[in-house]
Amino acid sequence: MQDIKVTADDIAKAQASPRWNLVFPEPLESRFDADLGVRRAKLLRLVSVRTVVVYNSFLVGDYFLANDTFALALVIHLALVTPWMIVASLLLDRPLGAVARNLIITSVPASMIAGILAIFLVSTDPLANHYQYFVVIVLIYANAVLRPAYSYALGLSVITAIVHGAACYIDSGMPNAAAAAASYGLVIAAWVSLIANYNIERDVRRSYLLRLKDNLVAKDLRRTADDLQRISHVDALTGLANRRGVDVRAAALFAGAEASRRPFAVLMIDVDHFKGFNDSYGHPEGDRCLSLAGAAIREAVRDGVDIVGRYGGEEFIAILPDADMLDGVLVAERMRRLVEALSICHEHSHAGIVTISIGVGTGRFGEAESLRAAIAAADAALYAAKAAGRNCVRPPAGNSVTAFQPVRVA
Ligand code: GH3
Ligand code: MG
Ligand code: MG
Repeated sequence: MQDIKVTADDIAKAQASPRWNLVFPEPLESRFDADLGVRRAKLLRLVSVRTVVVYNSFLVGDYFLANDTFALALVIHLALVTPWMIVASLLLDRPLGAVARNLIITSVPASMIAGILAIFLVSTDPLANHYQYFVVIVLIYANAVLRPAYSYALGLSVITAIVHGAACYIDSGMPNAAAAAASYGLVIAAWVSLIANYNIERDVRRSYLLRLKDNLVAKDLRRTADDLQRISHVDALTGLANRRGVDVRAAALFAGAEASRRPFAVLMIDVDHFKGFNDSYGHPEGDRCLSLAGAAIREAVRDGVDIVGRYGGEEFIAILPDADMLDGVLVAERMRRLVEALSICHEHSHAGIVTISIGVGTGRFGEAESLRAAIAAADAALYAAKAAGRNCVRPPAGNSVTAFQPVRVA
């Protein structure tokens, strides 16, 4: 499918249009032409190889029906029409507008018909009266197999009917009754093949519209599914990843880093005395506080590298790839300070403002259950931070980084 944009509205408009089976309203017609025109031109190239063979096999007919003009037939077949068929198929291989493409397609049978009628008129062979019937075959081939756009097929048929009728009438060797019968036969052949041309074109256009509609619906569904997936991974209050989002991103991170054996740190972050905050200032203020705390927590980590999310309630998590315990504690401390710096008044907290406590755990990519173990360690460290009086950062008990001084500032 090409780049010309069409909408469901364009398709509905096309379906409502009285002439949709022959031409779509723009921009759909351009899109249809771009999508099918080139493919059809390629198909015609294939058809034309066979056409050259079949067309020239009619020289046998020339030999038996119009033997006196056989030399002329050879010239017309081999020096005029066949070279033109080859040129036409080469031209059809190039990017062409619809008008040029249809004119070239129509010119091939038109040149065959002109050749047949020329020989029919020039030949004095009594059998040449039957020669003009080849026009019927060419016209059916043109309208039903080559299938130029309906208006071109109609134009070719009308002109052929007139010229063929005139040639039969002019030809001195053909009785008027035979000329009338031949003309009538040709008109019927034109009519029948035009019906085929029309019906095929209508069916092609109908199935094209349905396919396009299906594609649009499928694209819409894909977009909606993507949106839903994105929404289902985001916490509406803070805009951070929710628990599911964290799980999905963590799974992707661990799948990619499995072989690296690099360290990672996990931070479990919990707002201190948050129940008291809600009780004092109300749930909506609590929500606002969580949203501000979430933004501060995000500010402390590396964009696009670290994973940060709301793990539930007033609890957040951060996963820091390529970070050891010291890195984790430093980032946690930065978070703690950023939340502190928000200075959100909290009468039930020792500090008088909203604070967070953070437990840090670490692990190594590629080790079994390393994330689960690191989360458990960070959780235990968080309990220790709460027990230590809150508003502080704690690594797991016994970790040497415990001695790191700035972990407890307030
Ligand atoms: P601690 O310092 O030990 O963590 O005490 P805490 O009060 O923060 O802990 P607790 O688990 O007792 O209370 C958590 C509170 O967080 C209770 C709940 O009402 C509140 N909470 C959880 N999710 C939300 C939320 O989405 N919005 C608001 N406003 N409050 C929430
Ligand atoms: Mg809490
Ligand atoms: Mg909690």
